[in-house]
Amino acid sequence: MPSLGQVLLEDASGPVYPPPMINIRDLSVRCGRCMNFMTLASYAPRDGWNAYTFECETGGCDPAASRTVVEVPIERDEFAQKHPDCGGSCGTR
Ligand SMILES: [Zn+2]
Repeated sequence: MPSLGQVLLEDASGPVYPPPMINIRDLSVRCGRCMNFMTLASYAPRDGWNAYTFECETGGCDPAASRTVVEVPIERDEFAQKHPDCGGSCGTR
């Protein structure tokens, strides 16, 4: 994919759209074993990515075994940009 700079140089007349943002709160993460919604348990910035760890807390599944990590590119992570300090622990969007 061409960079935004290349797009501007090659087609200055067309509309330029910002890359779509991803909000982790818009995703539905379900446990693949019991199909219950999983709970956001922790958040950790990594190299270029924000890693969100989800756990199944129904009691029927071992949280350690069903744990799921969802990674979002930092520059497209709307949720992290709204919550730079808490990493989402404040519970709001
Ligand atoms: Zn489960």
